[in-house]
Amino acid sequence: MIAPSTINRPAAGGQSHDDLTIQACGCGTATGLLKPTTHSPASTWLCCRCGSVFFARREGEIEPTETGIRRVSYYEVMKAIYVYMDGDTCPVLQKDAQRWARSSGSRNYLGREFRKQKRFAVAAPVTAVPLSDNFRVSGHPARIMTVNVSGGGSALLHGQQIFEPFLAIDFAASGIDLLPAILHVTRTRKLATGWEIAGKFVSRVLP
Ligand SMILES: [Zn+2]
Repeated sequence: MIAPSTINRPAAGGQSHDDLTIQACGCGTATGLLKPTTHSPASTWLCCRCGSVFFARREGEIEPTETGIRRVSYYEVMKAIYVYMDGDTCPVLQKDAQRWARSSGSRNYLGREFRKQKRFAVAAPVTAVPLSDNFRVSGHPARIMTVNVSGGGSALLHGQQIFEPFLAIDFAASGIDLLPAILHVTRTRKLATGWEIAGKFVSRVLP
């Protein structure tokens, strides 16, 4: 269960092709990339000029003349940015997340049922990578705690406030059998010991 929030963010509305286009990288390199959607999973792309990484997609093959952006392995990206992990999960947050997960029901978590839309209260560590509105990696990853997860979204506990509109969530540390996914942050709320972040999954990430 998610308590009502005090901060609401606008949800993504109808998207035309133009809306989905990712503009040039901050260094000026044309990306040729599109924003991921529910039906179009993201993969990871590197700007060869400045090293920016995008969680994005593209239609069709890359033209031979377009050398500014290349696809890179998701695992390579995560391996590279783990170096910059912001601490480990705060023990207080871990306890909070476990308490919240317990109090919001469902102690009978079963892995197989997890893939259905049902929401499961589960406190587990995940890695969150902040993404800008252009789906560019825009900060250091952090190990944070889930409060609940379903196929459609998740609520998380974070030690710090986040301002990015999207988070790439990697479940590898949780033991939960889910592919990485991009969360659109729809609500944040200050708690006594950190921040609650809730959102909807907008896209899977192809590893
Ligand atoms: Zn660049």
